[in-house]
Amino acid sequence: MAHLLLIEDDSAIRTNLLRALRERGHAVAASHNAMDGLQTALAERPDLVVLDLGLPDLDGREMLRMLRAVSAVPVIVATARDDEAEIVRVLDAGADDYLVKPFTAAQLEARIRAVLRRGGTGGGEPVALTVGGLRIDPGARTATLDGAGLDLTPREFDLLHHLATRAGQVVTKRELLSEVWQVPYGGADKTVDVHLSWLRRKLGETAQQPRYLHTVRGVGVRLSEPA
Ligand code: CA
Repeated sequence: MAHLLLIEDDSAIRTNLLRALRERGHAVAASHNAMDGLQTALAERPDLVVLDLGLPDLDGREMLRMLRAVSAVPVIVATARDDEAEIVRVLDAGADDYLVKPFTAAQLEARIRAVLRRGGTGGGEPVALTVGGLRIDPGARTATLDGAGLDLTPREFDLLHHLATRAGQVVTKRELLSEVWQVPYGGADKTVDVHLSWLRRKLGETAQQPRYLHTVRGVGVRLSEPA
């Protein structure tokens, strides 16, 4: 079973696919336009999005770009056009797979299983990350430092995990707000600072004497193995 989001403006197609996917045991949310779909994708964090390219409020490719700016969720695009150039463009814009309409629920189900199995850009078995004595297991949502469990809040865990995926690189607060807090625009750097200071304390270090968490003034923060 997967948690799916179906973004489709045609109510007959939407109703049919919703019913068919639910009968196959998936939990499915649906949106009838791009803006609602984008908000639902951020709020519900589905395992996979099925996106109709012909939406009333926003071009599907534009929608895909906006979604990709804030989320790595796998996306299967449904297109009415069997146009090779168009398909190349949507795959370039970040789609994981596509289906040309009309298609059956069984065909869609097969694509969904293939994309989720492949891991796409988001799903699949999460990989544990190691940075020095830190080990971060996204499957179990646990982290240890030198073998001892860290007592992290869900947000602190997400923050540490995101920094670990970019270990050795400076990550901007803007990126953290977008990736960890899911705030696509705006948001306060102070929020990030506060959580970083809590995380730092749990790692047993200070900003003045960092071991893992290095603040790069005016740029962001870097997680790296102690020298
Ligand atoms: Ca449509």
